[in-house]
Amino acid sequence: MSYLVLARKWRPQLFADLIGQEHVSRTLANAITSGRVHHAFLFTGARGVGKTSAARILAKALNCEQDNAVEPCNVCRSCVEITEGHSVDVFEIDGASNNGVDDVRELRETLRYMPAQSRYKVFIIDEVHMLSINAFNALLKTLEEPPEHVKFIFATTEPHKIPVTILSRCQRFDFRKIPAPKVVAQLRRIVDAEKIEISDRSLALIAQRGGGSMRDCLSTLDQVVAFCSENVSDDDVQGLLGMVDQRLLFDALEGCMQQNCSMVLEVIRRVDDLGHSFRQFSQELVETVRLIILCELVADPQEELGLFGDELQALRHLAALACQDDWQRLLSLLIKTESELAGSVYPKLLVEMSLIRAASLPPSCRDAPP
Ligand SMILES: [Zn+2]
Repeated sequence: MSYLVLARKWRPQLFADLIGQEHVSRTLANAITSGRVHHAFLFTGARGVGKTSAARILAKALNCEQDNAVEPCNVCRSCVEITEGHSVDVFEIDGASNNGVDDVRELRETLRYMPAQSRYKVFIIDEVHMLSINAFNALLKTLEEPPEHVKFIFATTEPHKIPVTILSRCQRFDFRKIPAPKVVAQLRRIVDAEKIEISDRSLALIAQRGGGSMRDCLSTLDQVVAFCSENVSDDDVQGLLGMVDQRLLFDALEGCMQQNCSMVLEVIRRVDDLGHSFRQFSQELVETVRLIILCELVADPQEELGLFGDELQALRHLAALACQDDWQRLLSLLIKTESELAGSVYPKLLVEMSLIRAASLPPSCRDAPP
């Protein structure tokens, strides 16, 4: 059986499928309904958040043969050809490898002819910030006097590298990193459809590692499935991602706040036995303390911090062990240790000493629980 990578199989085909970019979908949909579609768009945002997918959906919507709705029909000849990447009127250009002035001149030559089969010729230029200054200047002439039958969609991760003259002629859309709960909900839909058994906690770990990029999350999910087949355990996911078991993190922090040095040393021994990197361990401790501090402050921690299952309960239990000042003090100590680990040949020793130091500090707040 051939296996299509999840990111391609589940690429959004409708504006409604663009997870976390509702502000973009809404504005584009309004423009299409009102017939006021700008001739040049700039899609900016981190990698894997849906810029190129949105560009293709927009190209389809503009050229769809069934022009009764905002969304592309995805079944007419034009839609199918764009989805499959062989439309004669939609050009996908990689800005990184076609960045010279000659490439843009060639593009301008193409512009003069009417579209062969569609309403518009659409040029999607990915990584547009890679164009040379001369190429941008050549492009500018076209953007100043665009032919009626041409639309440009530029995508970039680095909008600050694009000349202001170009920026000012584009309608700009900033794509956001996709919030963890939305990523998890989408991953849940996908794994259910693909009949993959995996817990919400594992999906949360994958989402956390993906840092708001759907594409990165789906690549990780591909790896996880390749490794575990259809039955995925939390331990497998943690192992595969090189992540430290949350229980170890919680135990280490509890040891620090209860002045329990032997508990701290036991955790360090286990982290070492399991072959984790102490840098990774240290980074995850920092992230966990951040969650402990924030879970007491934000209105809806489950939603805003992307917590799952009994995670919030565990964090609150830890938060109650010390006052906010002490957690802040521990956070500073851990961040300092983390930065020292970068060039150190004694990672274990550094973490060991820093956690022992933390566990030896008396509580600073009088009303802290014993
Ligand atoms: Zn169509």
